[in-house]
Amino acid sequence: MTEGGGPAVPLLDLQAQYRPLRSELLAAVARVCDSGQFILGPEVEELERELATALDVEHAIAVSSGTDAILAVLMALGIGPGDEVITSTYSFFATAGCITRVGATPVFADIAAETCNIDPASVRRALTPRTRALMPVHLYGLCADMDPLMEIAATAGIPIIEDACQAIGARYKGRQAGSIGTAGCFSFFPSKNLGAFGDGGLVTTNDAGLAREVRLLRNHGAEPKYHHRRIGGNFRLDALQAAVLRVKLPHLPAWTEGRRRNALQYDTLFRSAGLSEVVRLPVEPANHYHVYNQYVVHLPERDRVRQALSAKGIGTEVYYPVPFHLQECFASLGHAPGDFPQAERAAAAGLALPIYAELTAAQQATVVSALQETLSPR
Ligand SMILES: *Cc1c(COP(=O)(O)O)cnc(C)c1O
Repeated sequence: MTEGGGPAVPLLDLQAQYRPLRSELLAAVARVCDSGQFILGPEVEELERELATALDVEHAIAVSSGTDAILAVLMALGIGPGDEVITSTYSFFATAGCITRVGATPVFADIAAETCNIDPASVRRALTPRTRALMPVHLYGLCADMDPLMEIAATAGIPIIEDACQAIGARYKGRQAGSIGTAGCFSFFPSKNLGAFGDGGLVTTNDAGLAREVRLLRNHGAEPKYHHRRIGGNFRLDALQAAVLRVKLPHLPAWTEGRRRNALQYDTLFRSAGLSEVVRLPVEPANHYHVYNQYVVHLPERDRVRQALSAKGIGTEVYYPVPFHLQECFASLGHAPGDFPQAERAAAAGLALPIYAELTAAQQATVVSALQETLSPR
């Protein structure tokens, strides 16, 4: 613990990002309060234009959360009962939860050990005549291996929905995450790389028809007002969140570079501490641009190590301790331990370390030497 009583190195320090932008952010909030327009409206429309440019897509539709972005896309594509959607067994819950919420069946695929992203070979084995979509996740900020996935989807004649909630600004062969498949889904949850002051999300697509449908569903399917062709939901974004995001968006490239610089620094520190054999570090394959929403290492005795770091005031997290196929709510799908061994291994060994842009070199050194003390033979 530091003198102030806070942790020596927190997992995430949102105050460090907020402080230099405070007056600009509060002015943006005041602007919305003075306008009296609190839901959708000009702030949201401006944000959509700015994000469409930044993410290199024709259509960007701001919604209430990343979860609702996924839900709205599945609804817009007409996916429902009797349909199967293939996704990674190893992600944040929303990915699989939304598939079930529209009445479809999630069909899980294992991950590739190196990247923790969906394994195309496992996707091929999961295909059936009922497969209606493929939803890869760009986990931790690294794009899934899109070329083989696009080929599988094209052959099967199904759309790809990119769960890019952790990957805003990530690139695959020069292309922006969320611009490669039929649609992309983003989250502005505060701990994501572009975080609002509450919930928010985004759908991206180059398909004008799909964009129109998502916009319709965002507001209960009403067009014009009180006339409903389809049943949607309240997936609208607040103007306050849009105003906050518009202040932050221009800083995103620099924040991402900060995360990448810290990842590189960890690599150096782990190597010089002689830990690169014991601790498996995240990789950035050729032609990828990793945005490190999380920096996840894999190591032995993960839970003991996590406790020891916590005792030294170092914040860490486990993303994610239980893969989807072993979750209680999916028991009816009939899976058992051993079905997706790579995901199960990652769930047992993965540990997220602090990686936020404002993290200092001294803090990183503290993290690595604490790990060295904890892992060295006693
Ligand atoms: C955060 C996240 C979501 C959900 O986003 P919310 O804005 O929290 O609803 C979905 N998928 C992944 C992979 C995420 O990390």
